Amino acid sequence: MSTEAVAVSAVSDAQQHTPSAPAQEKTVEKVNLLGMSRPQMEKFFEDMGEKKFRAGQVMKWIHQYFVTDFSEMTNISGKLREKLEKICKIKAPEVVHKNFSKDGTRKWVFRVGDGEGSLVETVLIPAEDKTGSRKTLCISSQVGCALDCSFCSTGKQGFQRDLTQAEIIGQLWMANYSYMEDVPIADRERSVTNVVMMGMGEPLLNYDAVLNSMRIMLDDFAYGMSKRRVTLSTSGVVPKIDQLAEDIDVALAISLHATNNELRNELVPINKKYPLEQLIAACQRYIKKDGNESARKHVTIEYVMLDGVNDKPEHAQEMIKLLKDLPSKINLIPFNPFPHAPYGRSSRNRIISFQKTLSDAGFVCTIRQTRGDDIDAACGQLVGQVADRTRRAEQWKKKIAQSNEIMRSQG
Ligand code: SF4
Repeated sequence: MSTEAVAVSAVSDAQQHTPSAPAQEKTVEKVNLLGMSRPQMEKFFEDMGEKKFRAGQVMKWIHQYFVTDFSEMTNISGKLREKLEKICKIKAPEVVHKNFSKDGTRKWVFRVGDGEGSLVETVLIPAEDKTGSRKTLCISSQVGCALDCSFCSTGKQGFQRDLTQAEIIGQLWMANYSYMEDVPIADRERSVTNVVMMGMGEPLLNYDAVLNSMRIMLDDFAYGMSKRRVTLSTSGVVPKIDQLAEDIDVALAISLHATNNELRNELVPINKKYPLEQLIAACQRYIKKDGNESARKHVTIEYVMLDGVNDKPEHAQEMIKLLKDLPSKINLIPFNPFPHAPYGRSSRNRIISFQKTLSDAGFVCTIRQTRGDDIDAACGQLVGQVADRTRRAEQWKKKIAQSNEIMRSQG
C-alpha cells in the first residue's frame, strides 16, 4: 500500500466498501478510485460538490483507456483534475512477478499489503471456442482461505485477509493493461473476455467486495462484460448463494468434488455446515427459469479427479442421481499434486471413463485442459481452486530475495 499521504480526509483502499467525500482536515492516504463501483464513485463526486456524471467519465478513463494519470483525462476540467490529483490515486496491486507462456497463458503474482507472504496469483488463459477467441482471467478474492479443503494448499495457509475491491478489480485492470502498455491511449481496447472468481479464497466470504467488483465488470462505463462471461465459483456457502441471486445476474459454478456427504465432509469441510441437499437446492433456486438472456440458465459443476478417492464408477452414478434435476454442465479437473498432497491424480483412462458415464446419461461433461506448462500455470488448479499456492509463494519469496541480493551487490 502506498505511503503517500495528503492533508485531506479520504478513505483508504481497505475502507473502500463505503467511500465518502472529504469531511475534515487530517492526514490520510489518497483514495484509490480503481476499486469503486459507479454508485460508490457517484456518491464520492457528489460528496465533493461535483456532478455525479463525473463518475462515469472517470471510470471510462480508468477501465477503458487504462489511464492512471489525472492530467490525461482531457474531458475533465483542469481544476477538477488538480483536485483529484491531490486527494485520489488510481493504483493496481504491485506486480512482483509476471510470466507469459508460449501458449498465450499469462500469470501474475501480486503483492497485497505489507507482508512478504501477502501474495496472490492471477492467471489468464486464452482459448478458441465457437464464439471466437476467449481470454479467461481467474481472479483471487482473499489472501489464504479459511475453509481448509483437504486437496487445496491455500486452505493449509490459513486465512490472512479479504482483498479490497481495488485489489480484486486491479487484477482485471492489470491483465487488460498487459496487452496495451505501448498502445496509444485512443487505440486501447480491453482484451479479457471472461472472468472466473475462482482463484485464491472463497469469494462468497468476501461478499461485498466481490459483488461490487463484479458490478464494475458488468458496467458499460467500465468493462461492459456480458453477465454470462462473469462466473462466481463457490465451495457452497448456501445463504450467500441466495443473496447473490437477489443482487446480481452472473454465472455460478460449484466446487462439488464429492457426490455424497461423507466424502464431501472430508474433502470440502464446509459441507458439514451446508450439506449436499441444501447446496443442490440453493443451486436450483439460483437457476432463473424465465430469462433467456440470463446468466443463470445452468450451474457449472467443478469436480477435481482424485485417484481412488472420488473417481470410481459408483461416484459417477451418484453424481447422475444428485444432479438429475439441476440444469448443469460438469467440468472434470485432473488433480495437480503438490508437495505433501494426500492425493494423486486419477489416470487418464479413469477420467475418460467417468466422463463417458456422465455423457451417456445426457450431461454435458468436459475435461479441463492444462495450459501454460512452461510457466508453472498449467495446474488447471489455480483456475480450479486447488493450486499449490504455498509452494509458489515460497518460490516467489526466494526469487525476490535473490534479485534484491543481486541489486545490493551491484551497488
Ligand atoms: S478449494 Fe477454494 S474454498 Fe477450498 S480451501 Fe481452497 S481456496 Fe478455499
